[in-house]
Amino acid sequence: MKLKEIGEFGLIDKIKNETLIDSRKVIRGIGDDAAVFSIGKGRVALLTTDILIENVHFIRNKISPHDLGYKSMAVNLSDIAAMGAKPEHAFISIGIPEDIDTDYIDMFYQGVKELAKKYSVNILGGDTSLSTSGLIINIALTGSAVKKNILYRNTARPGDIIYITGNLGDSKAGLYFVINNITNLDHQALKLINVHNKPYPYVHEGIFLAGCRGVHSAMDISDGLGSDLGHIASESNAGFILYEEKLPVSDELINFCSKFSKDISDYALNGGEDYVLAFTADPKNALNIEKSYYKKFNKKLFRIGEITDAPEIILQLKDGKRKAVTGTGWDHFRHNLTVQ
Ligand code: ADP
Ligand code: MG
Repeated sequence: MKLKEIGEFGLIDKIKNETLIDSRKVIRGIGDDAAVFSIGKGRVALLTTDILIENVHFIRNKISPHDLGYKSMAVNLSDIAAMGAKPEHAFISIGIPEDIDTDYIDMFYQGVKELAKKYSVNILGGDTSLSTSGLIINIALTGSAVKKNILYRNTARPGDIIYITGNLGDSKAGLYFVINNITNLDHQALKLINVHNKPYPYVHEGIFLAGCRGVHSAMDISDGLGSDLGHIASESNAGFILYEEKLPVSDELINFCSKFSKDISDYALNGGEDYVLAFTADPKNALNIEKSYYKKFNKKLFRIGEITDAPEIILQLKDGKRKAVTGTGWDHFRHNLTVQ
């Protein structure tokens, strides 16, 4: 069977079979933003890993080595944040093609270390090898948390309000400039590219939300809001409704979409690489969560919809009409970084 036919998630489902040999200390294996396992006394450790491959996840001459290091750390931090845990130790493995010099690797590590310092993460090891097919980066990151605070994908409840922590679609707009070789970039274009190259990991926010009463589930939006919320819904045996008018978008994205005739809702719903957190919360705790979050971070949370009974997955359009959400998020076997 071709990988394209089953897609990234179909493949992971197949791999999942017979992966738990001794499940006694495993709280969550494959299927969430990070794995969770017991380390005793009500505390748990988390582990997540992400790979970035030249010409699949990035185009080397379109991102500075510093930003590439930064992004590689950010995507891992985002997965630990999505579980509401504190990131701790990183392991970094790189496959380096012959044409890359030490300056490049130095700058890459400056980007990695900038975020490591910001979030107090140690770099404890990794692996280095020659690569015959482009630059390959794999980071594994551990985290820790109190067991009862962890936020999973499969614990959303019908009636929960769905929140996200920031704007959607900017990263995809940034990618548009990158892959279409658009030069002459104005201030707004540079801002969108910066969101794509240097995503903000919501680490402190994730830990804070995990400690809030009434927050039931969370994940980070890496493949696209529609498809990622689909994971929360299916894992929780629930459905959801989203309100198009509530999806937060930046002024830069609004201008981008009108300039390049793009559908802004498509960018918001199916963008990918947004790395905002999506979480669900009990409506009776909602106001408290919003207020205390604002007080702590001086930032708003965005209510974008509700968890409902399965199997409905609905987008209510601005004109009040409803349609089914089709999760056309990023799938590595079905999409690639070619001109779009
Ligand atoms: P994310 O986008 O949050 O990084 P993914 O969609 O990549 O998550 O992965 C979903 C789940 O599948 C995670 O639990 C991840 O650890 C697991 N997973 C992904 N690839 C593999 C693999 N090759 N072998 C085992 N587990 C995998
Ligand atoms: Mg994730």
